[in-house]
Amino acid sequence: MFRRIRWRIALPTITLILLAMAGLGLYLSHLVRQTYLSDLQGQLTAEARLLGDLVAPALARGEAGESLDALARSQAGLLGVRVTFVGTDGTVLGESHEDRSQMDNHLLRPEVQDALVRGQGSSIRYSRTAGYDMMYVAVVVKADGQVVGFARVAVPVRQVEGHVARLRRAVLLATLLAMGLAALLSLFIAGRTSGPVRELTHVASRIAEGDLGARLLPTTRDEVGLLARAFNRMAEQLQEKVGTLDRERGRLAAVLEHMADGVLIVDREGQVQLLNPAAAGLLGVAPENAVGRSFAQVVRHHQLIELWRRYRQQEQERAGVVEVEHQGHSLRAIITPFREAREPGYLVILQDLTTIRRLETVRQDFVSNVSHELRTPLAALKALVDSLRDGALEDPPAARRFLDRMDAEMDALTQVVQELLELSRIESSQVPLRLAPTPAAEAVRPAVERLLPQAERAGLRVSVEIPADLPPVLADAERVHQVVTNLVHNAIKFTPVGGKVDVSARLEGDQVVVAVRDTGVGISAQDLSRIFERFYKADRARSGAGTGLGLAIAKHIVQAHGGRIWAESTEGKGSTFFFSLPTAAETVTRP
Ligand code: ADP
Repeated sequence: MFRRIRWRIALPTITLILLAMAGLGLYLSHLVRQTYLSDLQGQLTAEARLLGDLVAPALARGEAGESLDALARSQAGLLGVRVTFVGTDGTVLGESHEDRSQMDNHLLRPEVQDALVRGQGSSIRYSRTAGYDMMYVAVVVKADGQVVGFARVAVPVRQVEGHVARLRRAVLLATLLAMGLAALLSLFIAGRTSGPVRELTHVASRIAEGDLGARLLPTTRDEVGLLARAFNRMAEQLQEKVGTLDRERGRLAAVLEHMADGVLIVDREGQVQLLNPAAAGLLGVAPENAVGRSFAQVVRHHQLIELWRRYRQQEQERAGVVEVEHQGHSLRAIITPFREAREPGYLVILQDLTTIRRLETVRQDFVSNVSHELRTPLAALKALVDSLRDGALEDPPAARRFLDRMDAEMDALTQVVQELLELSRIESSQVPLRLAPTPAAEAVRPAVERLLPQAERAGLRVSVEIPADLPPVLADAERVHQVVTNLVHNAIKFTPVGGKVDVSARLEGDQVVVAVRDTGVGISAQDLSRIFERFYKADRARSGAGTGLGLAIAKHIVQAHGGRIWAESTEGKGSTFFFSLPTAAETVTRP
């Protein structure tokens, strides 16, 4: 309680008033007592002198006893004091109030001794006879220049004490009143001063708890008002800065969240401070488990750990790069120390090069495949030209045969080049699909029918079964014909005489799935996964006539339609190729 400002103001004021009033009271009561006493002493001295003059003749005559007692009593009655006459030897000769015979020798009383020396004396002391404090004043009584005795008067000092006590009470009352007033006043002033401070504290606590919009209403123009205004300005700037920081942090978080590269921040001790989802994905760790753990535990790759250790030991300034294979990914790690920041640490960026590396491999394979495909017909052409030059020209029938074969080789070359062009055009989306709702039968049947004569020549039976109630597919009919042609053509090519080729279609969810089944040679499991790659031929000897591009083209066309192509096969029993196309109804409702 006493820590509060109001008490800190009130308490010293009250104490000060208390001390001042106590001091004043003590001083005043002392002063009043002294004044009263000296007044009383003066008055009693005058009365004692009068009495001395009055009693001098009797004392000079050596009177004592009843007559002096009577004088003492009558004078005491008049003056309202106690009167005592003492002889030069200290014997009490007359007394107004007490029994003289009981009284001892008074010569050694302080007032009598003083009177003996200086003519008058006084003393305040407890009177055993009366039972309370009395003031005694004695004077010498002289007759004809001779000391004949002492006249003494006495009054109780109770009266004086009564006056002093009244004064003390008055001072005490005044003190209490002043203290009360001071307490009230200082509490009021302190309340007025500390109120805004309490308000300020309240608002500051709200801001600290996150309510950055909390503000004070400055009510006064004094220092506290100025403080409130300054506080509001500070709160505004704080809110603005926090807002800016928040926005920047949000942007940074969004960048980190969505960037394809993995980002880790590692402190000097090697603890992971930050890790974005891409990094977590590349390293195969859960982000919430990684933060706070050591770099080595998180990356679990000796080359990366080695690079990072080297960096720390040598206190390298430049960025370092290493390319590693990690959990099936080709990773490039770039470690950059950042020293200028307040907390030095390391920025580790992980780039996934898997796709680039795969593309490089595909490109290399592609070039070698193209060269291979072109080399065979070119070599054959070269051989035929050589034969003609070496004399076959002179033999017209042979020359014609050679020319026919050259023609066939040129056709093969043309086919490869055409299919390559086709593939590249489809892959680069140069030929836009002309999608239109097409009945499934129309998309499939014409292509099969065109190949019927070829199937017949190969001694195969072909059946087509397409339910009439299938919904139309959203397709470019000409392109779908190309897919069906490629699949049926393959089926005919890889099915021995007497076999069967069945083409069918059915609805699966919102897709129409077309199947081309044959009873041919089949495809081994290991080839099955690769037959849709460009130039892939399962059995080079048997499929020598093909280019290995047909299925790749089919795959691209189907995928461009939003469908899927796949195959199932048992070696020696036959294969089934499936492809799916979205139905038109489903697509029409699409926004
Ligand atoms: P190609 O022009 O050589 O036929 P494709 O891309 O059409 O090229 O086929 C690739 C390879 O897939 C073929 O060489 C063949 O080995 C295999 N293949 C495709 N269809 C069948 C099938 N119906 N039966 C057996 N093998 C097939």
